Amino acid sequence: MLTQTYPYVFDPDHAPLEARAAEFRGAGSIRQRVAALGAAGLLARRDTRSLAVIRRQLAYHDPLDDLAFVIQELGCTPLERANVLLEVVAEARAGQRVIVFGLTEPNAGSDVRSLETVAVRDGSQYRLTGTKHFISNAPECDGAVVFAKLDGQVACFFVDAPPTSAQAVAAHSIGRLELDGTAGVLVSEKGFGLAFATLERCRPSVGAAAIGLAARALDETIAYTKQRRQFGAPLAALPVVRLRLAEMGVELETATLATLHACWKRDAAHAGERTGYTSAVGKIVATEAAQRIIDMAVQLHGGAGVEESSVVQQLYRAVRPLRIYEGATDVLLTVVADHLLGSP
Ligand SMILES: Cc1cc2nc3c(=O)[nH]c(=O)nc-3n(C[C@H](O)[C@H](O)[C@H](O)COP(=O)(O)OP(=O)(O)OC[C@H]3O[C@@H](n4cnc5c(N)ncnc54)[C@H](O)[C@@H]3O)c2cc1C
Repeated sequence: MLTQTYPYVFDPDHAPLEARAAEFRGAGSIRQRVAALGAAGLLARRDTRSLAVIRRQLAYHDPLDDLAFVIQELGCTPLERANVLLEVVAEARAGQRVIVFGLTEPNAGSDVRSLETVAVRDGSQYRLTGTKHFISNAPECDGAVVFAKLDGQVACFFVDAPPTSAQAVAAHSIGRLELDGTAGVLVSEKGFGLAFATLERCRPSVGAAAIGLAARALDETIAYTKQRRQFGAPLAALPVVRLRLAEMGVELETATLATLHACWKRDAAHAGERTGYTSAVGKIVATEAAQRIIDMAVQLHGGAGVEESSVVQQLYRAVRPLRIYEGATDVLLTVVADHLLGSP
C-alpha cells in the first residue's frame, strides 16, 4: 500500500480510501463498472493523491476499472471548474451517468489547437458539428464534454447522449463522437483553459495507474519465476533472473517516487502555481518505466508470457497507451525542455 510505504506523502484520510480501492472489484461493461465505483463511493471529487491511491489499486487488479474511474474524473472536472451542470456532475459521481472527455480529433491530436469541430448558436442552445476520435468510453456514454470552436475561439460544451461509433483498440473501450448539428450546452467560452486545467489535474495520476500495472507485473513475475523450474532449479535461482527482478524493483521504486512527488506537488501548490514540469516528469518516468518493467515480465515468462490468457500479456497491452494519451512522452519532453531552457 502506498500510504503504508510512503506515509510522509499522505494525510490520514488517504489510507482508508486506499484500502477501499484495494477491495474494489468491478466486472462487465464500463457502465456497470462506473455504477459499482459510484456505489462504493470512489467517484467523489478528491485531491490528486487520492486519485493516485485509487488508480494504483484499480490498475493493479483490473485496468478496465481504472479506465472507468478516470474518464468519469476527466468528464466531471471541466463542469466543476466552470461551476455549471452540477446536477450532471452529481449523477456522474454517483455512478449513474457515464460521461466522457472529447478533445482529440482526426486532424488534431497533440496539436489540439488545430481542432476543427465547430459550434454555432441556435437560440439558447448551440449546434456542434465535427468528429472526435479516440474518446475513451464513448461507446457507452450518456454525455460528453466537447471542445469546439465558437466564433474562432475554442469553447467547452456539454452534449447529452451524443451519437457515437466504436473504434477497435486493444484492452480499451473507445470510440468516436459523431456530431452533426448536435445540440450542446455552453460550459465555458474559455475552452482551452478548462481542457488544459483538467489534463493537468489528472496527469500525475496516469503515473499512478502505470505503477499499478507495473507492480502487478512484478508480483506475477516473482511468483512465476519461483515456481517455474528449468536446469533443475527455479528460474528465480538463476543469477541473471535475480538481476532482472532487482532491476524491475528499482525501476518501480523510482517510478513510484516520481509519481508521488508529482501528486504531492499538485496538492501542495498554491493558487496559480504552475506544476506542469513536475507532472510531466512524473508521467514520463512512471509510464516509460512501467513499459520496461512489463516488457521484462513478459520476457521472464517466456512463451507463457504471450499466451492470450496470461496476465502479463494483458498488462503489456494495457500499459502501451499510457505513454501516448494525456501528453505523449515526446510532447511532455518539450515541456521539460522549455522548463530547463525557457520557451524558444
Ligand atoms: C487508448 C487511448 C485513449 C484515449 N482517450 C482519449 C480521451 O478520452 N479523450 C481525448 O480527447 N483523447 C483521447 N485519446 C487521444 C490522445 O490524447 C491522443 O492520441 C494523443 O494526444 C496523441 O495524439 P495523436 O494520436 O493524434 O498523435 P499525433 O499527435 O499524431 O502524434 C504522434 C506522435 O508524434 C510525436 N509528436 C507529436 N507532436 C509532437 C511534438 N510537439 N513534439 C515531439 N513529438 C511529437 C509523439 O511521439 C506522438 O506520440 C486517447 C488515446 C488513446 C491511445
